[in-house]
Amino acid sequence: MENPLLATALKQIDEAAGKLNLDPGYLELLKTPERELVVAIPVKMDDGSLKVFHGYRVQHSTARGPAKGGIRYHQDVCLDEVRGLATLMSLKCAVVGIPYGGGKGGVVCDPTKMSLGELERMTRRFTVGIMPIIGSKKDIPAPDVNTNAQIMSWMIDTLSMFKGETSLDIVTGKPLGLGGSLGRHDSTSRGLMFTVLDLLEKLGKDPKGVTVAVQGYGNVGSNAAILLHEKGMKIVAVSDVSGGLYNPNGLDVNALNEHIKNAPHHTLEGYKGEAQKISNAELLLLPVEVLCPCALENQITKENVDQVKAKIIAEGANGPTSYEADHILRDRGVYVIPDILANSGGVAVSYLEWVQNLQFYYWSEEEVNTKLKRLMDEAFEAVWNLSKEKNVSLRTASFMVAIQRVYNAVKQRGIFP
Ligand code: NAD
Repeated sequence: MENPLLATALKQIDEAAGKLNLDPGYLELLKTPERELVVAIPVKMDDGSLKVFHGYRVQHSTARGPAKGGIRYHQDVCLDEVRGLATLMSLKCAVVGIPYGGGKGGVVCDPTKMSLGELERMTRRFTVGIMPIIGSKKDIPAPDVNTNAQIMSWMIDTLSMFKGETSLDIVTGKPLGLGGSLGRHDSTSRGLMFTVLDLLEKLGKDPKGVTVAVQGYGNVGSNAAILLHEKGMKIVAVSDVSGGLYNPNGLDVNALNEHIKNAPHHTLEGYKGEAQKISNAELLLLPVEVLCPCALENQITKENVDQVKAKIIAEGANGPTSYEADHILRDRGVYVIPDILANSGGVAVSYLEWVQNLQFYYWSEEEVNTKLKRLMDEAFEAVWNLSKEKNVSLRTASFMVAIQRVYNAVKQRGIFP
């Protein structure tokens, strides 16, 4: 069965491409990944048994630059999901204006059931499996769901051993001491904040007191809450895997973060501050001005969209709104800042990390944040202007901007041979 994420991405491409005057053969090329590698990953487990994991690396496009995208460790990883995520990466890099194509990788595994040693051996063997196609000028992996700076460090070490030279520029999302960038930890959320502020400005609305609900209080959601709160917005609801919290007068974001830091499972469970308990489903339907889905895909669907009251939805997560729900929201005049724009701050700072690695010279956090702001503001402006000019949603405009950029690169390069 086709993965919903891939199917949705392809439908969105068709819709946006329908408003551009594209050669059908080239459009077909744009919907087809350039290269797909499937690898077997044999790992000696701690109990002495041999287990074979399955891994993927898909390069959707390298027309505008090296492929770029994370590596996901999850039991539900499948080739179609990796294809869909790689496709979105090409478009994300294009819309935010960084010189990368798109790629994605994944290993079918449940890392919560593996020891650190097993994870390390699996990561190193996977790295060698995909080694022929990755590299600083070819395809640059990064963390995604269940992978982190430690996994990136093992990848660097493995490739460096083979190359006989320390190669920090082959992945991004590294620890600071191994060539990581200042500002990377909250870059996705900071990018999201810039797009929300840009939209509010276009709508002539002061951010002060604007009410916000955040679904998913992980890396993206918690930092988004902090940053939006710093801009004077009122975070009235948050949620994570343990459930949600709501206070119409505003939650104490600092107390929430202190709680998460010290909680046994680093979740919102057991929070003692002033708030009423709600479910994740209820959070999506609250009477707020801005809703930030920052957890999972497929959260706003045709089943619940009629009860969603937010006027602005900023997609921190990839694919949180179904294709049908997106159309209903558009017809109701709700502004959806789509994933490929709203959460592109992460890959934008990955790009800045890579540039710092290539030049062996590192910027201050302030410099990184300033460069990020410029990239996000320019991307938002291009999307906003096109959406007004063509009378289309921000999602369709984002896809149109991105598709046109990838298409132009392919056309300019020509078809080999
Ligand atoms: P994370 O693992 O740090 O956080 C995910 C959060 O979602 C956790 O708080 C978890 O408890 C919560 N969650 C899980 N199931 C839930 C449920 N059913 N209802 C509500 N909350 C639930 O992950 P993250 O890095 O913050 O990524 C979140 C989303 O953002 C993903 O879709 C990811 O692909 C996307 N994204 C992340 C980045 C990045 O830089 N981290 C960049 C671009 C896109």
